[in-house]
Formats: sequence, structure tokens, C-alpha cells
Amino acid sequence: MSGSVLRRGRILALLVVALTLVAALVAGASPAGAKGGSGKGGGNGLPHPPEKEATAVGHGGAVTSLDPYATRAGLEVLQKGGNAVDAAVAASAMLGVTRPYDGSIGGGGFFLVYDAANDEVTSIDARETAPAATTPTVFREDGTEIPFAERRVSGLSQGVPGLVAGWELALEEYGTVPLHRLLQPARVVAERGFVVDAEYEERTRDNLEIFADFTSTRETFLVDGAAPAAGTVFRNPDLARTYKLISQGGADAFYEGEVAEAIVDTVQHPPVVAGAERKVRPGLMELDDLDEYEARWRDPTAVDYRDHTVFGMGPPSSGGTTVGEALNILEGYELSELPEADVLHLLIEAEALAFADRGEYLGDPDFVDVPVEGLLSQDFADERRELILEPFAATPKPLPAGDPDGAADDGVVLASAVAATGSTTHLTTTDRWGNIVALTFSIEQIGGSGIAVDGYGFLLNNELTDFATEPGLANSPDGGKRPRSSISPTIILGPDGEPFAAYGTPGGATIITTVTQVAVNLIDLDMDLPDAIAAPRLGNINGENTNFEATLPAATQEALKAYGHKLPTPAADPVGNVNGVQFLGDGGLLAAAEPTRFHGGSAAVVQPVPH
Ligand code: GLU
Repeated sequence: MSGSVLRRGRILALLVVALTLVAALVAGASPAGAKGGSGKGGGNGLPHPPEKEATAVGHGGAVTSLDPYATRAGLEVLQKGGNAVDAAVAASAMLGVTRPYDGSIGGGGFFLVYDAANDEVTSIDARETAPAATTPTVFREDGTEIPFAERRVSGLSQGVPGLVAGWELALEEYGTVPLHRLLQPARVVAERGFVVDAEYEERTRDNLEIFADFTSTRETFLVDGAAPAAGTVFRNPDLARTYKLISQGGADAFYEGEVAEAIVDTVQHPPVVAGAERKVRPGLMELDDLDEYEARWRDPTAVDYRDHTVFGMGPPSSGGTTVGEALNILEGYELSELPEADVLHLLIEAEALAFADRGEYLGDPDFVDVPVEGLLSQDFADERRELILEPFAATPKPLPAGDPDGAADDGVVLASAVAATGSTTHLTTTDRWGNIVALTFSIEQIGGSGIAVDGYGFLLNNELTDFATEPGLANSPDGGKRPRSSISPTIILGPDGEPFAAYGTPGGATIITTVTQVAVNLIDLDMDLPDAIAAPRLGNINGENTNFEATLPAATQEALKAYGHKLPTPAADPVGNVNGVQFLGDGGLLAAAEPTRFHGGSAAVVQPVPH
């Protein structure tokens, strides 16, 4: 493993400021990013939205998410003595209310947890699962695949949701606050309302045609058939009631009984508005599929990168293995000494190689033998690196998969389509004891399947569109199988074995390229987390074209084109929506969310210091 000279000037400066100022802080100072009061009783009688800050520095715990209500909910748990897992549950429940198109109890996700007392990283797979009746050809008709838009808005794409079971499993192991108390703030906001922001309005408007075609979705999420306007208060009393049922009955109240019955009814009989022309195929979910759902402990992935250890999510997510393989390939170069364009060139090449292997080998480990150890071995990465051209020039893509068990590079070529920007949401929490949670959860597309569960206030996911549509592949559909994900919650320990950073992002397959790039920004390019997040993004998922943001400087684009990379048009939307926490040593925390992408995210610490 090669070392790099790390220059951490800005971080050290922040730490000095933090430690100097913390002495002047009185205990119980009001937390940054949580100045909005209790969520009710503003001067005009409307709920106050909490203040939103993209960066916070301090001590005693931190929460970052896409949304200030969620960040505040998590922070309040920490302030009252709860731990990072408690806070993650409270914040994720709030995101289901205030960001219902990104992730909710109608979907699933992956928890990566650093347990400080045991110095151990663990992970929970709360991924959606295909109903038992699913066949490998479920997404084909007359020998061809059903078009994506039709697969998405259908019962066929709706997997058994996993988030509620994930909450329960995480709390059983680590929780210190009862579930009903963690759901209480979200229940209150669902009941009394929150102030719609521009991002919420836009996301509703983008889905209007779909939402309007379902009686349940129209009633739950539209106001007189239109998107709720920014600045107005939006309530979801049906979701408040569902949270109440879960508060009283735990996960059983979701996977059995009236909620389960309503889910199955919605899947089997999508509530299409009379006269709508949309062809909506019913799904195959039965009550038993819900009853039998379980969230599962999985081994996290781990790779040594420079003098850090990068932990990620293992299968059925492809996140940890693909990020890890790309980093292992990059380890052969002294990135800290190269010009920016060369760093980005190598990032593109390493990502393309890792995605070739992802396409070939990644699927649900309960159904296919995923060679995790081989994919993450340094020997395999060293072998894959030999395909990167010297002197530097772009390789023709798509690249073939390698053989992680040590033979030649003779795998099949699976071209990756242009990265679809889906939905999904990420949050990061850490507490005064040093525990960390990186939780990414999803309902797949923005708005999921577009079909809400009638009377229960949440949208069902379309996560099963993450399956391949052909049979015979690692990621082909099957009964009881979980579709391959790109979700990549990430925790990095530093050279001293202490936490260095934790973060994650939405973005479909670009989750992987974004997480890899942020790791390089932090570790090789010596950026602090806010800069690592703000930097323009690019990535290659083993496709002919490289995906990039319009903010990537023109000179850098030209330099990459000169190497032969194809960067025809910038991504229409920002790539990713990252948030996380950087650990500054001696308990100092630098919490960071997006400053501008998607109207910015929300970071807060328990004991802030000005920065
Ligand atoms: N369904 C995607 C996955 O699990 C996440 C959705 C997205 O962020 O686009 O990989």
C-alpha cells in the first residue's frame, strides 16, 4: 500500500477554531440548524420550517440529511441522550413525511453502523424483496422487456418494503429509545404539517401526470389535482395514523394486519383513476410476502486505501464492492501528485473496470455466489489496473469483466446504460459516544412507483426495476430475491483506526461514482468534507460516455477529451446529493451537506461552534 503526504491545513484550522471556541460555550447552547422552534406556532400561526445550514462544526454528536426537519428530529434525539441509531430512526421517519418521494416506509435501504464500544462496523440489509410468485421473466412480454416507464408505474415493480423491519432490527441491537418516541416528532409533523419548499414542489410537479392517475396518490399528495405550492403547509394525516399504528404495534403492525392488507390490495389492484389511459399492470405480492419479510445483518465490505480503511455495504448492494475495487485500482497511482485531469482520467478508468465486474457478478448473495473476497482483493485490482493504458489514454468502453478468482480478463461485456437519476435519500448521524450511522434508503425513482397505499399516506417503491429484465444473470428477478442496489453508505477509519469520515448519497448507479470521488477528494486531494462535497462531479459506469456536471471546468473537460474520453453533454441534473460527517479528532465534528445541489441539505451538531 502506498502512502501519500496528507496536508490537512484547513481541517486543522477548523479544529483549532473549534477547540478554542468550545471552551467559551455554555452547556446546552442552542444547536445550529435547529432554531426553528417546535414546528408549530409561528407568528402567522403556521409551522416554522427549521433553519437550514449546509455546514456545522462542533462536538457532542451530529446529524446530516437532505432536509432540515429530519436533521432537527435526529438532533433532538441526540440532545435528549439518544444514540446515533436512535437518531437515524427518528430522522428517517421524518424524511418519510417531508421528503416522501425519496425514501419512506414504502421502500427499503441499507444501514452501515460504527459501534464505538466494540470498534466494529456492522450493516443491515433492509432491501425490498420480490414477492414469492416472481419469475425470472416477470418483466418480459412476448419475448421483449416491458418498457421502463411501464415497469415502474405498476404493481410488478413493487417490492416488499424493508425500512420498518430495518428500524426494528437496528433498534433491537443498538437502540436506547423506544420506537414510539422516535416516531413521535414525525407523527406530529405529518399531522400538523410542514412548510413545502421549492424542491418538494418541483418533485411533485415532475410526477404530476403519474400521481394524478391514481386515486390514492392524488388524494394523499396533490392539492386540488396540483402540486402543493412552496411556502404552503402540507399535512399527511394518513401517514400520521400509520406511524401511530407502528408506534403501538412495532414492525408487526406494518407487516401484518390492516397496513399489510392495504399494501397487498394496492399492489394487486392499483387504484387507477376512472378514465385514465395508463396501462397499469397489477403485482404479485401476497400477505405472506409481507409476513415473511426480514431485514438481515450482512458483512460490511472493507478495503485498505492508502492508510485508511473504507467500509461499505455488501451484496445485495453493489456499492461496497464497486467502490472498494475502484479504490484498490486507484491505489497504484500517487493521485496526490497528479494534475486534476489525470486524477479524473484515472477515476473514470477505475470506475469503468469496477462497473464491468459489478455487471457480471453482483446480485442477491442468497441466490448467487458473489465473489466478494476476490472482487476486493488487491491482487485482483492490480491485475485489472493493467488494462489502464500507459501513456494515459481512454480505453474503449464498455470494458469486459475480469475474473476475480485469478484467471484472465475474459468475462462478458455488459454495457451500462446512461446512469438514470433515481430518487433515494441519505442521512448520517453520530453521537457523543462516537457511534456512527450512515443510512441510505429509497423508493427507487422520485415518487417510487407513483402509487400510494390508499388511506395510509405513503408511496410504494418501484425498487424491483433494479433487477435485470433478462433471465440467467446474477441480477435476474426471482421469487424472494432482492434486486441489486448501488446504495453505498460509507464509513472511513483513519490511520489511527479512529473514525475519519462517514457519508452517502442518492443517485442510482452514480451513487458509486460519487462516493468514490468523494473518498479521493478527502484522502488523496486533501479536501475537507464541505469541499469534497461541493467539487464538480463526474463518473463512468462502464459506458461509452462519461457522466459529468456542467460545473466541471471547460479546461478539464477538454483535457479529458484529449485523452479520448467522451463527454458529450453535461448531466441534466446535479449528480448526487451527499451528506456526512468528518471527524476532526478530540471529538471535533464537521457536519456537511450539499451547499447548493437540489436546493442544499441540512447539517447540525449538538454543541456548535461558529465557523
Ligand atoms: N434504486 C437505486 C439503488 O438501490 C437507488 C435509487 C437511486 O438513488 O437512484 O441502487
